[in-house]
Amino acid sequence: MSSNYFKSHPDKEGKFGEYGGSYIPEELTKEMNKINDAYYSISKSHKFISELRSIRKHFQGRPTPVYYCNRLSNKYGGRIYLKREDLNHSGAHKLNHCMGEALLAKYMGKKKLIAETGAGQHGVALATAAAYFGLECEIHMGEVDMAKERPNVVRMEILGAKVVPVTHGLKTLKEAVDSAFEAYLKDPVNTIYCIGSVVGPHPFPMMVREFQRVVGIEAKEQFLEMTGELPDNIVACVGGGSNALGIFSAFLEDKECKLHGVEPAGRSFKKGDHAATLTFGKPGIIHGYKCYLLQNDKGEPDPVYSVASGLDYPGVGPEHSMLKDWNKVEYTSINDKDCIDAFYELSRLEGIIPALESSHAVAYAIKLAQANPTKSILVNLSGRGDKDIDFIVEEYGLPEVK
Ligand SMILES: *Cc1c(COP(=O)(O)O)cnc(C)c1O
Repeated sequence: MSSNYFKSHPDKEGKFGEYGGSYIPEELTKEMNKINDAYYSISKSHKFISELRSIRKHFQGRPTPVYYCNRLSNKYGGRIYLKREDLNHSGAHKLNHCMGEALLAKYMGKKKLIAETGAGQHGVALATAAAYFGLECEIHMGEVDMAKERPNVVRMEILGAKVVPVTHGLKTLKEAVDSAFEAYLKDPVNTIYCIGSVVGPHPFPMMVREFQRVVGIEAKEQFLEMTGELPDNIVACVGGGSNALGIFSAFLEDKECKLHGVEPAGRSFKKGDHAATLTFGKPGIIHGYKCYLLQNDKGEPDPVYSVASGLDYPGVGPEHSMLKDWNKVEYTSINDKDCIDAFYELSRLEGIIPALESSHAVAYAIKLAQANPTKSILVNLSGRGDKDIDFIVEEYGLPEVK
C-alpha cells in the first residue's frame, strides 16, 4: 500500500475500487460537485485548518486520552487500551465530522444544516454544531423513532434545532433520508445536507473519513508514547463505519497491526435479526452509493436489527467494502448478549459506561484478549452509554452486585 493511499482513495469519481461513487439524480449531482469543489478549495486552507484545530481543542476537548484498562486486562489477559471518544464533547465521535461539516458550511456561506437521524445521535451532534456556529438546523426523523428516542428529540430542541416528523411509509430512517433530501433540494443555495457517517454519495464518504482521521492520528502517537510500540490489534464497531475508519486510517500501512471491524450479530443470523452487512451482504446500491448490502432478490435493502440502534444499517461505507475485498481489515460480529455482558464488565471493572455500539468492540476485545494473552489491543470507545441506561435496565435488568 503506497503512502498515496488517501489521495487516490477515493479516485476522481469518488470510487473505492468498485464501491462508492454516486448514483443520484442529476440535480443532486450538481450540488454534490459543488460541495466537493468547496471541500478541496476551503478545507486545505491554513485558515480552515487552524480554526478546526482550535475548535477541537477548546470546544470538543481534544485530544481525548488513551487509557489502559488494568482490571479488565488482569481478568481476561492481554493488554486492553481504550481511545476515549466517549470523552469527546457530546459523548461520541460523531461531533468530529459534524464540526468539520458545519465549519465547511459556514465557509460556503450556508445558513442552514439539514440531516436525517435514526436513533437521534447524529441529529444531536449536528444540532450541537449548528448552535456553535449560529446556523439553523433541521433534522428529519421518523415518527416511530421520535417516540422511541424521546430524550434525543428533546436534546435537539433544547439545542435550537427543528425536528421534522416523517409520517409516511414505515416512519423510520429510510423515509427520514428521503424527506431530508427533498427538503435540501428545495433550497440548495442556502442549505447543506450533512451525512452522519462514511456513507452516501461522493464526496461524503471521503469528507467524513478525513474529519475522523484525527482519532487515529492522536491514538497512534499516544499509544507509542505510552508503550514504545504499536498496538498488535485495533478494534472498532462498524455501523456506517466512521469511527472505525477514523482509527484504522492511521494504521493501514503498519503490517504488524491487525485491524478488526465489529458488526452487530443481533439476536441471530436469520434475516432481519442482525445487521452484519460485511459478513452476509452482497454488493448493491443504497442511498446513492455502492457497497456491501443486506438485500433481497430485487436489490431492496433487507430489514435489520441490533440492540445498538447506531449500528442497525443494511449498508456500510464503500471504503470498508473495498478494505474487506483487500483482506486489509478482518470483519467479524458480536451478538446482543455478548454486547450487554461487555457493557456491564467495562462499567464495573473500569468505571466507564460504554455506548451499546462501542460495547460490541469491547466484547470482541475481551475475546481477543482471552485467545492471545500476550498481545495488546487498542479499542476505539466511540461513545458513552448514558443514552442507553434506561433501556438496558428495563430490558435486561441489573446483574447482581457480587
Ligand atoms: C453512531 C454511532 C456509531 C456508529 O457509527 P459509525 O459511523 O459506524 O461509527 C458507533 N458508536 C456510537 C457511539 C455512535 O453514536
